[in-house]
Amino acid sequence: MDVKQVMRDYFVDLGEAAKDPARKVAWCTSVGPAEILRALGFEVYFPENHGALLGATRVCGDTIPVANAQGYSPEICSYLTSDIGAALKGITPLTKAYGLSEVPRPDVLVYCTNQCKDVMHWFAWYARRWNVPLLGIHPPNHLPEVLPEQVADVAAQYRRMIGQLETIAGRKLDPEALRSALAHSKEATDLWAQVLDSAKARPAPLNFFDGAIFMGPIVVLRGTPIATDYYRSLLAELQARIAAGHAAVPRERLRIYWEGMPVWGRLRHLSDLFAKQRAAVVASTYCNSWIFADFDPDEPLESMARAYLKIFINRDDAYKEAYIERLVREFVIDGVVFHAARTCPNNSNSSYNLPQRLAARGIRSVVVDGDLCDLRCFSDEQSTTLIEAFLETL
Ligand code: SF4
Repeated sequence: MDVKQVMRDYFVDLGEAAKDPARKVAWCTSVGPAEILRALGFEVYFPENHGALLGATRVCGDTIPVANAQGYSPEICSYLTSDIGAALKGITPLTKAYGLSEVPRPDVLVYCTNQCKDVMHWFAWYARRWNVPLLGIHPPNHLPEVLPEQVADVAAQYRRMIGQLETIAGRKLDPEALRSALAHSKEATDLWAQVLDSAKARPAPLNFFDGAIFMGPIVVLRGTPIATDYYRSLLAELQARIAAGHAAVPRERLRIYWEGMPVWGRLRHLSDLFAKQRAAVVASTYCNSWIFADFDPDEPLESMARAYLKIFINRDDAYKEAYIERLVREFVIDGVVFHAARTCPNNSNSSYNLPQRLAARGIRSVVVDGDLCDLRCFSDEQSTTLIEAFLETL
């Protein structure tokens, strides 16, 4: 299965759903409770994916300033400013890519602040613009560990939200449908974990820059059998590549961990830069963020609460330090590249002494300034010099 075709089918169907009064569309944050929405029959759209597309196509260069001019600071999430600016300009890369005249209009907006509070402000803008119901899950944040009472709190918030969603969907939640959505998500996320694990092979059959593309279905199609089918076929392909000795980076010399967001508008540039140095970026926090080992169809709401509370971005620094160290050992990493994304402090982990603490454990790293979308914050020259010099030292 081709990831481009899987994503095309998803967006074309979403475009049709938005025009069909019999179908309902929900917008959801990327690590929000998508399984509940699927079980209630909503088609689910993820604005962060649209933000990444605006970044990758570099359309955001024209749209971020439009949002800035409306009072959305250049210092806040550039997914938000890219996307709101695009809405204000009445443009979307979905038109050129998939023939959609506009982003699919929502019947409800659902966010979860397990990742950041920017998503709440972002969705609130659309709620005001289109007078659409806005529902939020507000979990505890930055956790050293996830406690039973915190899981119970989030599960209770889900139950309250389900009641509100049932009114919008015009149907009751079928427990069997929720169980099935969780089962699909669990299978897809386990397969995704195996896909990422395949990079433990030497040479690695895929790298971070491939993963940033392959991750599309686990973000937008979890809870469906489509994601499961896609990752099963991708895993088989990767296993065949390993058996054939196929390397993502020919003559792999170094193995790197990428910490932080991708620089969507410079994926190719960075991929070529590392490949030129025969450095394979074999592991990343970002791609791993869609591994939800705790999903359990027999305990849907509590297991969702646990899984979505446990995500890396929602943990304390001691957890993050131990997590990165574990992956460095498991993937036999030579060095870590921290991406300090100007507009996403939530997904940038180099500002509170973490590189220094890792250095004390013998893990070498470099910090590269940049951004997920806003290329005004990223310098090709500086990043190239910094990364090349770092790779030389390894
Ligand atoms: S986590 Fe960062 S990139 Fe993602 S929505 Fe929040 S601020 Fe934006």
